[in-house]
Amino acid sequence: MWLRDSGCGWSAGVVNILLRIMVGMATLDVYRLLQETGALLEGHFLLSSGLHSPQYVQCARLLQFPTVAGQVGAALGERLEALGARPQVIVAPAIGGILIAHEVARALGVRCVFTEREQGVMTLRRGFTLDAGERACVVEDVVTTGGSTRETMDVVTRCGAQVLAVGAIIDRRGGPSDFGRPFAALIKLTIPTYAPPDCPLCRADVPLVKPGSRTFISG
Ligand code: ZN
Repeated sequence: MWLRDSGCGWSAGVVNILLRIMVGMATLDVYRLLQETGALLEGHFLLSSGLHSPQYVQCARLLQFPTVAGQVGAALGERLEALGARPQVIVAPAIGGILIAHEVARALGVRCVFTEREQGVMTLRRGFTLDAGERACVVEDVVTTGGSTRETMDVVTRCGAQVLAVGAIIDRRGGPSDFGRPFAALIKLTIPTYAPPDCPLCRADVPLVKPGSRTFISG
């Protein structure tokens, strides 16, 4: 963890990261950044699906540090450009995609808009518009099923704009990309999940934690 339990003061981890950012890094060690910011937790977690998992990812904890978010956004922007994408706008599904999409847009010097659900349907609100023929990339923090990414792609194409490529910090999908567009992720994570009766962590009596709380469910 970077921050001491008191929640104030800089730990050695923060200083280490800031130094590495200041001297510049040839490649961004995203896995280590996820660990050092507490975005990738290890233990025994109860997921909202009811399944248990030994790891839990909360990208917001990575992106809470603007300097880190800027570095990650620049790295993802480079990956999108390496796919040949020259977007005029970055489009994100709210809420998870907003921060990283904004940093990608900053790095590429383009604007950023986000989609959100209105009565369950993904749409552009807040006066955001996309022009016919405008070149867009859709950017997410984590792609798991790809559902919200596809819904956002649909919003872009319904506006007459085009989706050049899709980007994410973390690819958690089990299989290959099925977006029908080039896809770039900074890291691929395969996190196992278990039904409670089959969970080896339950059998080992590791305390079960609901992510986002400090409450032990059992153990
Ligand atoms: Zn378990």
